[in-house]
Amino acid sequence: MKIAFIGLGNMGAPMAANLAAAGHEVTGFDTAAPAPSGVTAAPGATEAVGGADVVITMLPNGAILRSVAERIVPAMRAGAVLCDCSTVDVDSARAVAQMARDAGLGALDAPVSGGTGGAQAGTLTFMVGGGTQDFATVQPLFEIMGQKAVHCGDSGAGQAAKICNNMILGVTMIATCEAFALADKLGLDRQKMFDVVSTSSGYSWSMNAYCPAPGVGPKSPADNDYRPGFAAELMLKDLTLARMAAESVGAATPMGMLAQQEYEAFVEHEDGRGRDFSAMLPRLAARGVTAG
Ligand code: NAD
Repeated sequence: MKIAFIGLGNMGAPMAANLAAAGHEVTGFDTAAPAPSGVTAAPGATEAVGGADVVITMLPNGAILRSVAERIVPAMRAGAVLCDCSTVDVDSARAVAQMARDAGLGALDAPVSGGTGGAQAGTLTFMVGGGTQDFATVQPLFEIMGQKAVHCGDSGAGQAAKICNNMILGVTMIATCEAFALADKLGLDRQKMFDVVSTSSGYSWSMNAYCPAPGVGPKSPADNDYRPGFAAELMLKDLTLARMAAESVGAATPMGMLAQQEYEAFVEHEDGRGRDFSAMLPRLAARGVTAG
């Protein structure tokens, strides 16, 4: 297949490189990052997409996605599919899909989970919104870049699945961290706490697979001085998208809202930026509350 790849950052570069390594003809464009090995650099986004069967975008946010889409959609060939893998707000995902369809193109929103490690290893999970035919067209590429692609429904459904998943993740990570901080103050050993909770009803991915306590459970960013992993500011981005989505449809998400506020305080006003999102544990352990 002829593929154009717009946005060759931490995620996009290894995803594009994996497609090229699998034998596809990949042309890439990024305003700042260089093209990875096997990918032909184009001088601009419109030049990159001209002959492509599938155009993949991996960009920072919905506003940038919309502005890139406005430029590339008119330059794409009829029948090609625009597949956005960025994490963006549901409204932008739907607006861009509509723009593509109005121009006679296919459109998918296909955000990922798995992080930069998954992008490099080709083990991402894709959550996909859009038409069945477009999903079938891009499925072979999802199989190269990832290990699983779930067709979640119409346009926007992929982004909806992504933010719902990450809202659960943000909330359970904070709950796991505050339980460790409470255990500390109660004199309960962290290893014992892990041994109990990881096999009891408090277990979760945050506890069992990504334990925020250093030296406890499987290897995780906590064991690497909380270097990301999944950075706190990316969790804040996803919780903010969840909050926007909840407000736009009138859904009650009190825990998601609180988690968004906690990560916002951590990233914007404390030392959270650039640290793994599990560094919520040292933050809470240090904070404490004076007994009143
Ligand atoms: P990044 O900042 O490393 O990459 C984004 C790239 O887009 C940059 O190289 C930037 O130069 C480029 N760019 C910006 N404006 C552009 C434009 N107008 N035209 C062309 N290129 C442009 O970010 P990333 O970590 O690769 O994340 C990309 C997307 O994937 C984000 O939406 C993010 O939320 C999502 N995501 C990231 C992770 C992760 O762990 N990094 C995990 C899951 C999802």
